[in-house]
Order: sequence, then C-alpha cells, then structure tokens
Amino acid sequence: MNRRLVSLAAVTLLGLTAGCTASQDGGRIEPPVAAAPSAPPQAAAPDTSCNPRASLRPGAGSMPAPGQMPAGSHMAAIQKRGRLIIGTSQDTLLFSSRNPFTGAIEGFDVDMGRQVAQAIFGNPDKIQIKVIGYDQRVDLAADGTVDLVADTMTVNCTRLKQVDFSAIYYEAGQRVLVSTDSPAAGIQDLGGKRVCAVAGSTSLDNIAKVGTKPVPVGRTGWADCLVAFQQNEVDAISTDDTILAGLAAQDPYAKVVGDKFTEEPYGMAISKQYPEFTRFVNQVLERNKADGTWKRTYEKWLHDFGRAPQPPQASYR
Ligand code: GLU
Repeated sequence: MNRRLVSLAAVTLLGLTAGCTASQDGGRIEPPVAAAPSAPPQAAAPDTSCNPRASLRPGAGSMPAPGQMPAGSHMAAIQKRGRLIIGTSQDTLLFSSRNPFTGAIEGFDVDMGRQVAQAIFGNPDKIQIKVIGYDQRVDLAADGTVDLVADTMTVNCTRLKQVDFSAIYYEAGQRVLVSTDSPAAGIQDLGGKRVCAVAGSTSLDNIAKVGTKPVPVGRTGWADCLVAFQQNEVDAISTDDTILAGLAAQDPYAKVVGDKFTEEPYGMAISKQYPEFTRFVNQVLERNKADGTWKRTYEKWLHDFGRAPQPPQASYR
C-alpha cells in the first residue's frame, strides 16, 4: 500500500473516533465538549518555581470503604451523583482511545480513572467520560466540569498554579516521529522543518525551545497531527514517547527516532477546590502501586513497551 492509501486508511480510522460520540456512561452518549482553535506556539521559559512531583499527602487513616465516602467530601458528592466524570481524549492509542468495535474509550489513562471509581463505588464502570481538547484540560479540571483529567498530562509548575495534580502515575518523555525515509536521527536534525504537536501541550512549547529551530505547528489533536504528517503538511510529529508509539502503530511509513529530550511525568489533574479528593486519589494510587494493580494495568495496555518498570514513587509536599 502506498503512503497515500495508508493515509486514507488512517483518516478513515480516525474519522471513526474523531467526530461522532464523545462520552460514555453505560449506553449514554453526550456531544463532545468543543475544542478551542489551536494557539500559536510560544517558547516559554520553563517555570521552575515548584517541585511538580510533590502532590498532597494522603490522609493518615485507612481508605474509606467503597460506598462510604466521608460526609461533606467531594468523594461523597461523586458517590451521590452516581458516577465519576473523567476528562480525557479519544484518539491517544493505548492511553485513551475509542475501541471501534465496542465504542468504549479505553486505555491506561482511562483505567487510572476507573480505579478511582472502583474505590468510590466498588464498581469501575461508574464513570462518565467527557472527551476534551488538550488545551481544555487545565480549565475543565480547575472549574470542576470534570472530577479529574487523566490524559497523558504532564505535571508542571505552570499548570500547578491552576489545578492540583495527583502523585505521578507514569514517566514519559518527548521524542520525535519522522518518515521511514528521513535521515533525521532526532529533533535536533529538524531545524527549519515543520514539526506538529497539539495546542495546549507541553510538546508544542518544547519544540520551540530546540536550538536548531524546528518550526512548531499546532493542531487540535494527535490524530490531526498524524493526518497532517501523512498529507505532507508537516515533516514530523514530536510529543511524548507514549503517544508517538500509538501514532507509529497506525503508520508503517513512520518511525520514532532520537532519545527522550524532556521529562514528562503524568498526573491526574483535579480542581484545587477539592484537596481531599486529590489526597484520596493519591491513596488509591499508593494502594494500587503496592498491590500490583498498577503493574497489571501497565501489562494490559503497554506490554509492547517491554516489561513493566517499577511504578513511579510518590512524593508529597
Ligand atoms: N504530556 C504532554 C502534555 O501534557 C504532551 C502530550 C499531551 O498533550 O498530553 O502536554
């Protein structure tokens, strides 16, 4: 199959996931939350004013039993509502993407949310997924539109000014995807070339910081970057290794090159209005990292990356 046919196949596949339904709660479907147009990339200086890995310490005692969330807590409000609202994307293969056979959005990130639902309700299916744009993640977590965002989201000091994050649940790093016939061995070899990333991602900022000056091109989602790549509108895509692995799996004419050139520790974003909920989520993460649940989740979704590493160690402020 030539490059264009592969491209059309990918557009069709992505079309299945991109335009139609957007959230799931049993059989219930809601329209997507509209994504804002892509913002121009800016080479912002890194904000080093905090330790982004330090989250809120879980409360001392044992975790409340499912169905018995403490009165007055945000967990009790979620329990009363009957579902946990998770903000995520629908086109990040392995982390949160729509299964074309079942219609469900699934992956490692979705399972992080499902495990919180399990802890609140004793049932991981008590979730509602809202598909959100990358550039909406901070705002929709901050104002409580979603209870948490689990969406390959890097914890950093800039974002921590607006939202709280759980402890780190995954360590990613930025790399670059190019055409199989490209001589580039890494992002530094792409000076003057158009490199795609999504608006509102740390990836877009990081491209702008590379000394050889690749030209950052913003798109709404990673599927849009893949289509732009396949239609030769951009020369490369650069983002977290996790996301690139999912994109490369959809295009036999793409390869991922170079070492990781950033650290992208993932956390779940939660409104600052509900610190007790962040502490609770951290308690869930601690338990699941210790009892093997995290490792099983890794092996379920990410086995192609090799053996499961040790889960990231929590650090608290
Ligand atoms: N992890 C990075 C971020 O949070 C890039 C990928 C993404 O947009 O999720 O911005």
